[in-house]
Amino acid sequence: MRRVLDSLGDPLLALDRSARILHANAGMKELLGWSRLELLGRPLTLVIPGGLPNLRQESPAAPPQSAGWEPHLPPPRPLVRVSALRRDGRPREVEVRLSPWPGGEAEGLSILSFHPLDTQVELERHLRLCRRLNMMEAALTQAFSQTSDEEDAAYAVLRACGELEGWTLGTYWRMEQGANVLEPLTLWTASPGLSDFTNVTMRRTLAPLEGLPGQTWTRREPIWCRDVTREARFLRADVAAREGLHGAIFFPVMGSGGRMYGVVELFSRAPREEREADEALANALGHRFGRFLDRLHHTELELTRDKAVRYLWESDLLGLFVSDTRGRLLDANATLLRMLGYSRRDVREGLLSWSTLLPPNQRISLEGVLRRLRTDGVFHSVESELLRKNDNRVPVLLGSASLGEEHVVTFALDLSAWRPMEPTAPREADARLHTLISHAPVVLFALDRDGNFTLSEGWGLEALGLKPGQVVGMSAFELYRAEATTLTHVRRALAGEDFFSVDALSTGPIYETHWVPLRDVEGRPAGTLGLSVDVTQREREARWRTQLLAEAEEARVEAERAVRARDEFLTIASHELKTPLTSLGLQLHTLLKRARQSGRPEDSETVQRLEKAQRQIQKLARMMDELLDVSRVTEGRLRLELGEVDLMQLVREVMERFQEESQRMGTRLTLRGEGPVVGRWDRPKLEQVVTNLVSNAMKYGAGAPVEIQVRSSGALALLEVTDHGIGIAPEDVERIFGKFERAVTVRKYGGFGLGLYIVRQLVEALGGAVDVESAPGRGSTFHLVLPLAGPEARVPTQPPTDAGLH
Ligand code: ADP
Repeated sequence: MRRVLDSLGDPLLALDRSARILHANAGMKELLGWSRLELLGRPLTLVIPGGLPNLRQESPAAPPQSAGWEPHLPPPRPLVRVSALRRDGRPREVEVRLSPWPGGEAEGLSILSFHPLDTQVELERHLRLCRRLNMMEAALTQAFSQTSDEEDAAYAVLRACGELEGWTLGTYWRMEQGANVLEPLTLWTASPGLSDFTNVTMRRTLAPLEGLPGQTWTRREPIWCRDVTREARFLRADVAAREGLHGAIFFPVMGSGGRMYGVVELFSRAPREEREADEALANALGHRFGRFLDRLHHTELELTRDKAVRYLWESDLLGLFVSDTRGRLLDANATLLRMLGYSRRDVREGLLSWSTLLPPNQRISLEGVLRRLRTDGVFHSVESELLRKNDNRVPVLLGSASLGEEHVVTFALDLSAWRPMEPTAPREADARLHTLISHAPVVLFALDRDGNFTLSEGWGLEALGLKPGQVVGMSAFELYRAEATTLTHVRRALAGEDFFSVDALSTGPIYETHWVPLRDVEGRPAGTLGLSVDVTQREREARWRTQLLAEAEEARVEAERAVRARDEFLTIASHELKTPLTSLGLQLHTLLKRARQSGRPEDSETVQRLEKAQRQIQKLARMMDELLDVSRVTEGRLRLELGEVDLMQLVREVMERFQEESQRMGTRLTLRGEGPVVGRWDRPKLEQVVTNLVSNAMKYGAGAPVEIQVRSSGALALLEVTDHGIGIAPEDVERIFGKFERAVTVRKYGGFGLGLYIVRQLVEALGGAVDVESAPGRGSTFHLVLPLAGPEARVPTQPPTDAGLH
């Protein structure tokens, strides 16, 4: 029995009535690392510290009430999921099933079979992480929708980490733009009594590489720490130890385009154990918070811009007026009116126009301005003169920009007071702004309401092979006529939508663009402003990942298809070859009969040759049968016809069939065993099993004697086939029972490597088990165990099935 247990790959324990371990097989050592000797005689709780919840009810089972061939069917045993203990002290989740040992029920013996749940545990872990990420995402979405302040948002992030992820304290270290230091902006904690740590933290600033936040800042990726109090690089370790903070993670808050906003640190009271989960959450959080800050800074910028324009209109710096395309002044600011000596009423009454303001001898006319505006979107500043109401002239710097199709805004800077002193000042300011934009890794562009470029600036243009301003005056519809998606985005933007888009251009680069609608004074769409950032690298990486996954899946499907195709081919080939072979065999038989009966001496050589041919045909037929059997087994078409069979008698018949062959090979075949061993089996299938084992013993037996032993023991029949031939190396022992698996070369020994595969499939179908004990050069013994009562009284086999003992 022990041998059978040992032959099974599934980890098994045999237990006595008081749940002490009687036996453990090799599978147990593989599963948990305990050796057999360490387990023998020890209580089950050594391996399963929590014990088995239903051990009492399960064992011992009631003795079987069998009559005739009706097998005793144990009731289906429930599976229990428990945490088992490895020899090294680590737990391993397993599924166990407890069943009585057939034949040992009366003594209360039972068998505990184990099945590792590693994949399931891994899946569950992943699922839990996804759920945590989702909850975090939901909490952040809500928090971010309620605030437009960096500090509030950071506090919400820290609190969400505390409440959802069990962190005790969190700090957001903000990177001071330009100052090159990290400063604590806000700190959250749910726990009282951390005042020392809080004080030390809030009073610090950190330089790059200083402490763990400083290192996170430089490395731009999370740093996870099981226990900060044991970490030399952590500067606040002593106060953390005093106040009982141990686990920690530090992660950067990164916006788009690699912009860094700061570092978040989180601390827990207990040391952290789940590094992977913490890091996954940290990455997701850092990214999400960064994107929120991107938006925040963007809107802040917009507001500032609006404010700046209003301030400019109202301040006493610059004369400004808005005119229509016929040159009539619609509005003017106080500075302009004062500069030229007009009143607001003059404007309201429609008295002012370009022609009344410009002296006749000035070169620039309204036509010229409008023409330039149409092509460039702006009319760059020129020095000119304006006429005052009293006809005096004022020297000014003039510049215009179109506000959509119908309006033009113009500024006039009075040069009379300071022109001689600082003649180049305005140009310098202009140039500074230009330099700033042209060195940012972005593309800043504007389209008028018809989709014509009125602005195109930024260092990012280089990647597109364009120069600043090169496309101004061109139509975006023309420029992007081959980019259908981009055209859709242009249309949406011109319709007045504010949104982000990702555009993959057919030439390669991928851009993320924020489209901001422009409106005229009546609030109608008047074009769009766009800010594009090159995200090619980021998107490529994401696409590459998706593609890899798809390819792996494709390869798997292809491999499955190939295996199916091979099996199908074998079925058809063997089936098609069988028919001509049978007819050939019959013809040979007839010829042989005639040659034997003729009695002529010259025919005796013919007889010999025909006999040889017949043997070859029989061998060929056996191989065809093997192939056919394999396809039946593989397709699950194996049907058992059970009846009463005497194994002893069956073995004798098989041996008789081998008589001629064994004489020819000089191999002695002997049978040991007494009396009939009768069971409920499928005769032809069992015959095939025995035939395959005996034929192997002869083939690999090197001509030495082959012994067969048959006996029964309790409810089981046992068959052993022993040879003294080439034997099998330990590493091949399990493999040779597989399909097409062989441990010898084809050149030396012919064969498909299917015989043992069929043996194992058939034996398992009959509820039994087969294994081999062998050593190279010392011969092999194949052990076969079959329940007398037939397949329903299955002995433990591999792989596990639902019925029976497992
Ligand atoms: P085949 O004999 O056609 O190769 P089997 O499935 O019957 O296929 O056997 C698989 C392999 O197992 C053989 O190729 C051989 O290496 C090994 N084998 C089987 N029986 C024995 C034996 N009695 N002694 C040594 N090796 C054996």
